[in-house]
Amino acid sequence: MCSHIGKHILCASSNVPEEVVLKEQVGDMMPCGFCGRSGIPECTITIKVPVNGTPTWDTKCMFQHKFKYGFADSGSKNQPCRNIPVKCDLCHPALPPEPGKTSQKPQAIAVEAVWRYNMPNHVVHLHKEYIVPGRREGGVMLPPAVWKAMKLTDLEQSVVRILKDRWQSSFAAASELDKENMQASGSRGAKRPALESSGSLPSKHARTSVSRLQTALTSLN
Ligand SMILES: [Zn+2]
Ligand SMILES: [Zn+2]
Ligand SMILES: [Zn+2]
Repeated sequence: MCSHIGKHILCASSNVPEEVVLKEQVGDMMPCGFCGRSGIPECTITIKVPVNGTPTWDTKCMFQHKFKYGFADSGSKNQPCRNIPVKCDLCHPALPPEPGKTSQKPQAIAVEAVWRYNMPNHVVHLHKEYIVPGRREGGVMLPPAVWKAMKLTDLEQSVVRILKDRWQSSFAAASELDKENMQASGSRGAKRPALESSGSLPSKHARTSVSRLQTALTSLN
């Protein structure tokens, strides 16, 4: 997990314009959380999630570095970025213990991991029957474990200046996902009044939308 890269990835996936011109683009599909690139075989990452204990991950990304999983998962004021590899429970549902074998802990096996900030895209493209707050309104409610894996904190959403009316929490809380929301998500970049501007955001940013393809990385440091 790299908070610097993570911020760019979150900007790109949330369609928030960057304030700097980036030299190298953030990959537009499932960017690696360590380097921000897409489609690099070495960046494939796997995760083992034991029944008790901390998940462990494995990747060959040359920009990988160690981090405290539990600490990164909670996030903090100094380290709000929570872009860590997670297990998708829709791809890999937790298996109930085999009958009569409850005393023996099932061995955690390595499965392909998804970076948290990529989870909305992952579910949109690979689990088409589910609701994705802010992305797809119709469908089946996400299992709590999957929602927990992709949910962003208010802090990380404010750090990259996602407009408050697009915060996940506002989608999750809104029982009436009305036409206005549908229009807003369907016409990003169109001129429209900011419903509930974050205040710190200049209004031109609220109305300017850049394609996530235009977003890129300044450096890989
Ligand atoms: Zn990488
Ligand atoms: Zn999945
Ligand atoms: Zn940067």
